[in-house]
Amino acid sequence: MSSKEEIEQSFVTLKQTVPLLVKHKISAVPSNYALWYTYVSNESPKLNEELDAAVESELPISELRAKDLYRSYVSDTEEVNAWDLRQSLEGMMIELSQSLKDTKSDTQDYKKVMDVCIDDLSKVEKEGWSVEEVLGLVRNMVKEAQTIRQSTMSFNGALASAEKEIARLKAQLEASQQEALYDALTGLCNRRYFDSEIASKMVLEKVSLGLIDIDHFKKINDNYGHQMGDLVLKAVAKKLQSCCRDNAQVFRYGGEEFAVLMPGFDEKRARHMADVMRRSIEKITVKDRRSGQSLGDITVSAGVAQLKSKEQQSELIERADKLLYEAKRLGRNRVMPI
Ligand code: GH3
Ligand code: MG
Ligand code: MG
Repeated sequence: MSSKEEIEQSFVTLKQTVPLLVKHKISAVPSNYALWYTYVSNESPKLNEELDAAVESELPISELRAKDLYRSYVSDTEEVNAWDLRQSLEGMMIELSQSLKDTKSDTQDYKKVMDVCIDDLSKVEKEGWSVEEVLGLVRNMVKEAQTIRQSTMSFNGALASAEKEIARLKAQLEASQQEALYDALTGLCNRRYFDSEIASKMVLEKVSLGLIDIDHFKKINDNYGHQMGDLVLKAVAKKLQSCCRDNAQVFRYGGEEFAVLMPGFDEKRARHMADVMRRSIEKITVKDRRSGQSLGDITVSAGVAQLKSKEQQSELIERADKLLYEAKRLGRNRVMPI
């Protein structure tokens, strides 16, 4: 038998012994415990015969009779002693600690209780504890273990819900960060994003800004409905995005107005890119799913300006805006300056 099996066996014996003491109303003194422990372990057939006979006679076993039996059959054997008892308790502790480990108890409480139990266990031998005292210790261990188990379970539960809450808040934060920087309809960077981006570009030696506005957009809404208007906005945004080259960045600046930041672009190059955008938007056809009708003539006008030295951000925007207005005034579907 391995020592683990021995511990397990003594644990089984212990569990069977205690109910026998209770059943036969035998006082739980160590000698009685050892007597009935030996009975259960079936190590001394003669003792078992004697005890069976005593039980059959239904007479309570007197303390003296018990002591006699103890002296005759047990006291000289080394098997049943406090060491065995300790083995049984250790077996129980292994079980308890296993169940605690199962609840992932790494807590200080667990350590403390186990320390106290181990301490008490050494007293079993040293101080010759009675079975009642030992049972008290076991009961206490079980109680403590249950308490810890409960607390670790609720701790784990709290931890799990805290984890859930953190994940939820993280998703919410990401969503709000997304909302803070991107436009929900078109997916483009939004006006807020633009404001911070253009501010950071003011230190560049060369940067250009394009402001692009859809022509007669109100008519699209009026003639085909707001939903169609949204579809056109999405299509234009997608086209602008796909035309972006060399670190150029497109933003939804306002309702049907877009901004393109072009770091490293001089005015000529910026105008060129804006015109490429204008021409590819001309080619967009959006189909009304319900009527099957195609919407042609989606055009944009644009104003392009290169940052001048010592120019303020607001001045650059104002110049681009004025040029956009000029493009509208001159008949739309064009980029200014020419
Ligand atoms: P212009 O060529 O002078 O720019 O004329 P316009 O009709 O495009 O300009 P106006 O400023 O008169 O109208 C812009 C319209 O864009 C008004 C507004 O209802 C519409 N609009 C703004 N944002 C949205 C949106 O998100 N979805 C839709 N469907 N329409 C929008
Ligand atoms: Mg417009
Ligand atoms: Mg407008």
